[in-house]
Amino acid sequence: MTSCYPWYEQNWEQIAQSLQSDRMPHAVLLVAPRGSGKFDFASLLSQSLLCQDNRGKPEKFKQACGHCKSCELFKAQTHPDYYPISPLIDDKGKSKQNIAVDQIRHLSDKLNEKSHFNGWRIAILSPVSALKASGFNALLKTLEEPGENTLLILLSDNLHQVAPTIRSRCQIMRPYIDSESVADWLATNYNHDRNHVIDALERCHQVPFAALDYLENQGESRKSQLFDLFDQVLLNQLNPKQALEMALSDHGAESVWLNLSDYFYLMVAGKLKSKAQTSYQRIPKVLSFNLYDKLIQYQRGQLAGSNLNAHAQLQAILIPWYEAGRRIHSQ
Ligand SMILES: [Zn+2]
Repeated sequence: MTSCYPWYEQNWEQIAQSLQSDRMPHAVLLVAPRGSGKFDFASLLSQSLLCQDNRGKPEKFKQACGHCKSCELFKAQTHPDYYPISPLIDDKGKSKQNIAVDQIRHLSDKLNEKSHFNGWRIAILSPVSALKASGFNALLKTLEEPGENTLLILLSDNLHQVAPTIRSRCQIMRPYIDSESVADWLATNYNHDRNHVIDALERCHQVPFAALDYLENQGESRKSQLFDLFDQVLLNQLNPKQALEMALSDHGAESVWLNLSDYFYLMVAGKLKSKAQTSYQRIPKVLSFNLYDKLIQYQRGQLAGSNLNAHAQLQAILIPWYEAGRRIHSQ
């Protein structure tokens, strides 16, 4: 069993206090970005509420014991009072896009029955955005008339993906992501250099497991592939259009942005080591600074949800980069 991630500790405390004062909400809407472990937290909370060791001790709510009958059933995914709901898997083994209305109706029926263990009945809906209109309506009924000792935990990456009628019936919870303590936790638990973790967190908008994924999977090789493409543009071995097509087909636009700004940052700071190194030194400083500046401005616009075409903006950086290369190599 995973223990509570530090960024959910406040949420855990909030639930513990609600239990103690006998004011548990019937529905919680947990809003957290993808990669922040919200399902793990919802699952830990569910197991702990169902755990027989916690039965009748609301003042001492603690993490599930892991070995009572209820915990055993939970771990085997067969606890009769626990209903994790997400889009079904189709015949080809792929996840469907939506949660079917029948899944919600079935849940409502189940929640109208008595608890099998005379305790909590808990459903996790993940993600709420997978509900279509009919599913929403079925869910609304359940939210309006929840049975006794019922907790619905709705998960969403984004508050705006949840209809106001659903939102207003839930207690909204968000994790508290403090980058310093997240960095400590990731560095300690996954044995990474703390500075690397901080760097990865910055790139991944402070989302803990996105940063971990970045650190452990593609981060470095992705970076060297993209840096190599940008070098090839400068060396005029690829034109900007080709380079961009290759970059975007192998990597997401976000990764291309991040790595391009890293490339310029390191180059401007004189820290970029590569086969094109002698060429960097011959590029007018003003040009490198201007391009870096422009890049940062574009990136800010993208983060703020600008509708400007990311492709055109990347071209607007790579074309002058290519031209600069042509000038220095023809001298
Ligand atoms: Zn237990």
